[in-house]
This record gives sequence, C-alpha cells and structure tokens, in this order.
Amino acid sequence: MRVALLGFSIECNRFAPAASQRDFDTRCWVEGEGLVADARSASPRALGEMPGFVADMDAAGPWEPLPILLAMAEPNGPVEHAAFARMMVIWREGLEAIRGQVAGVYCVLHGAGLTTELDDPEGALQGLIREVLGPVPLVCSYDLHANVSEAMVRDCDAFVGYRTNPHLDMRERGAESAQLLRRLLGGERARRALVRLPIVAPTVSMLTAAGPYAEVIDLGQELAALDPAIWNVSVMGGFAYGDTPFNGMAVVVTAADQPSADSMAERIARAAWARRDRFVAELTPLREAVARAKASPVPLAFADVADNPGGGGRGNTMHILAAFLTAGVEGCLVGVIHDPLLAEEAHRLGRGARFTARFNRPQGTLTADDEFSRPLAAEAEVVALSDGRVTGRRGIYGGTAMTLGATAALRLGGITVVVISIRTQCADPAFFEHLGLDIGAARSVVVKSRGHFRGGFDEFFGHDRIIEVDAPGLTSPILSRFAWTRLPRPVLPLDEDTTWTPKETPKGAKP
Ligand SMILES: [Zn+2]
Repeated sequence: MRVALLGFSIECNRFAPAASQRDFDTRCWVEGEGLVADARSASPRALGEMPGFVADMDAAGPWEPLPILLAMAEPNGPVEHAAFARMMVIWREGLEAIRGQVAGVYCVLHGAGLTTELDDPEGALQGLIREVLGPVPLVCSYDLHANVSEAMVRDCDAFVGYRTNPHLDMRERGAESAQLLRRLLGGERARRALVRLPIVAPTVSMLTAAGPYAEVIDLGQELAALDPAIWNVSVMGGFAYGDTPFNGMAVVVTAADQPSADSMAERIARAAWARRDRFVAELTPLREAVARAKASPVPLAFADVADNPGGGGRGNTMHILAAFLTAGVEGCLVGVIHDPLLAEEAHRLGRGARFTARFNRPQGTLTADDEFSRPLAAEAEVVALSDGRVTGRRGIYGGTAMTLGATAALRLGGITVVVISIRTQCADPAFFEHLGLDIGAARSVVVKSRGHFRGGFDEFFGHDRIIEVDAPGLTSPILSRFAWTRLPRPVLPLDEDTTWTPKETPKGAKP
C-alpha cells in the first residue's frame, strides 16, 4: 500500500508583509525521507497532522510512504509567488516520479494560504495532484481557519478539518485522515458537500470550549455519530484577514452519498446561521486592562490579540508594554517580542548588563507593518539569554521542536520582557520557562497570541483569568478597522443587512 505524503501550511494575512522561503526554512521544510523521519521523531518540526497520520498507518499494518515535501511556516503575509512556484515544481516532479505506483495520497493543508499572485494556493496544489495522478484516493486535512474554496472541496475525496481552537487535535485529525484513506483504498467511495455562510467570524469568537462555534461543532459530531453515511463533518470558521472572495464560515461534509452530505451540510449551516449574532468581538479597552493589571488580587493573563504572530502580526507592537510601563505595573512577564536587533544587542552585552533597550529601532526602508510597530526606549537589565531552541511543553506546540533564534529576557522596572529573533506566537510556557522565568510567580503575563496560549498556559490561567485587550494591530478582531478589497459583501458582522436563505434540503436525489 503506497501512499504519497505532501503538504503546504501557512495562514496568510493580506495586510501583512510577504512571506519568503526563509519563513518555511526556519519552521518546517521536510523533503523525501526526511519527511517520514520527522513525522516518526519524538519532537517533530511538523505540526501534528503528518505525525498523527504516519503513526496511525504504522499501527494499522504494512504500508509504504512515498514522501515528497511538507512545507509549513508561521502565519504571515502572502507567500512570495516565486517561492510557491518553486514548491509546485518540487511537488510536480515528486508526483510524476510515482505516477502509476501510488494507491492513495495524504496532503496536509492549512486552507488560508495566499501568494502574492494567488488567492487559493491550496486549490492549486490539489489541482496539481489531480492533474498528475488522476482520480487516485486523496484525503486532505485543514486548519479550521481555512477559507474554503470550491476547488478545495472538489479536488479531494475526503475533507478533514480541525475541531478544536486552540488547536489540540492535529494528531487526531491526521489519524482520522489515515482511517478515511484506508476506507477509500478498501474500495469505498465518498461525496462532499460545501455550504458557505456570509459570516466572517472575529477570531476571538471562535473558541471551541464554549460559545456559538463550539455548539455548532458539537452538533455536527453528535449528528455524525447517529448517521453511518457520514464520514466527516467539518465546520470551518475561516480567517478574515485572508480577504478572499471565498471568505465565510463553511460547513464541509464528507459522506457515503451526495444527499446525505448535502442535507447534513445544510442542517449544520442553519445551526450556525441561527447563532450569527453571537460571532462578535468583545474586547477590554487598554486603559481598563492597565487598571486590572495593577489592582487584581489574582494573577491575570492579558492577550495582545491584535498583534498575534499566529495571524500574521509582527509580534512587536508596544501599545500594551508602553501602557504597563507608564503605569508602573509590577511582577509582569511580557512575551514574546520579535526584535532581532535588540536580542542580538543583549547577547553582545551579556547577562547582567544594563543598557537602554530600544525596541523597533528604525532600519532600512519602512515596511507596511510600521504603522503599528512604533519604537520604544526603556532602561533595561539583561537577566537571561538563550539560543532560542526549545521543545514545546504544552498546547499547540507541545512536543514540537521550535527555534526562536537568539533570545533574551530583559528586566524593565517591574516588567520582564522576552525578546526573540524568529517571529513566533507566544503559545507555549516553555518560551518563558527555558530562560528560568517562573510564570506561576508572576502577577500578570502579557502574551502576543490571539488564542493558542489558552492551550499552553491553562495550568496558570483559566478562561476567567484571561483578558483580551483591544490595542491596534494587524490582527485586530475589530474587523471594521480594515480596508477589505475582496471579502464578499454584505457579510456579518460588518454589514447589518446581511441575509442568507437556506436551500431546500434535497429529498430523494440520486448520488
Ligand atoms: Zn488555525
């Protein structure tokens, strides 16, 4: 049983500077046998889908992986098209080399990728697989922040989306993909249905522990468990900042026959539409966040949701740090700030050195993100240094080998700031702990993360101890602040007059 393995995963924010080949090189670029070795290693560079898929296949019996290329990067702006085109050449050559020998294909995708020329690179890759290999069984898995195009649903046999946010089920979805692929290889056939809603949910309204999104996902799982025709129900919340013509919450159902897929997708979409008024952002104003950091009798976590590297944010805005410094907040940890020049300077000066830390010092040509990335200077002491190699301890990065680049902990009055050199979302406590910083002893922690920190920092901060702060940035959940160019309109929550009419559920239609 020969199975081709490949993938492309990056979430692209239309408003952020372009991503380059280097962004993939520093996170996860695994080719050929290196892809399988990484998936089977104790701490892979790849996120959990491919390791979960390979482990499930290994456990199920003999098979032969035919690995090509898996490229993953931290969310960013659109990928420089030339870099994506070079990846397409590698995938094409790899697929052509195994044509006629391959029984099935597993492709790991994010679903909210962009290039500087394409709105739907995932659809392009899936089309390439079909072009070279024809109707070979193909299972694709996606992040629930995917903006689902028609091509993505057409050009696969089974569609598997994450069901948790923060994303804690990546390995399980990889394993589920393996199970569905084996059904296809056993001769079963599946159909798919897509229903897209005019809802572009703010990121902070799509948690899966509770709330409207959780309810819809849970309903899908409950109904799927009752109907043996249903293979998978995926409720894809989407990624607003992709700003594509196919943005919008999407329900994708894979089923044994078309009527079952259609009616289930319609039913789940109706349930999401019924909750449409609840997909809104409710943030805490910065002034109120400062007051709570000073006065709270219990430790609190403050999420800088508008500068989330996990959504293309630059991880370097100073709004919250500046306000906390001015107010004299004590016992606070802030991280992780992306500032390679400052981290390099701290390493040069050495531990114990005192100096004026200048964040976001101007360099070269100003880029699009400078609107938010303003400079800040403060007296600082270097309290810890590292090379930034860490293995994630908990949550989305648990067990994953990460590289933050040259890293430093700087003490600025009552606030200790972790500065890194490779832009990364602050989703894992190891980013502080590997420097000897004690999160449990802090009175407050500020994280550059929209929501994945919840899966990493839950030992310290329950949901009732988390404050989502309203500050400016490239990933602000206040969607009215962006100059959208391709988003379908009208759409909720931007346009009050948005309507959606469900289709009559087809009855008695033939597959
Ligand atoms: Zn995601």
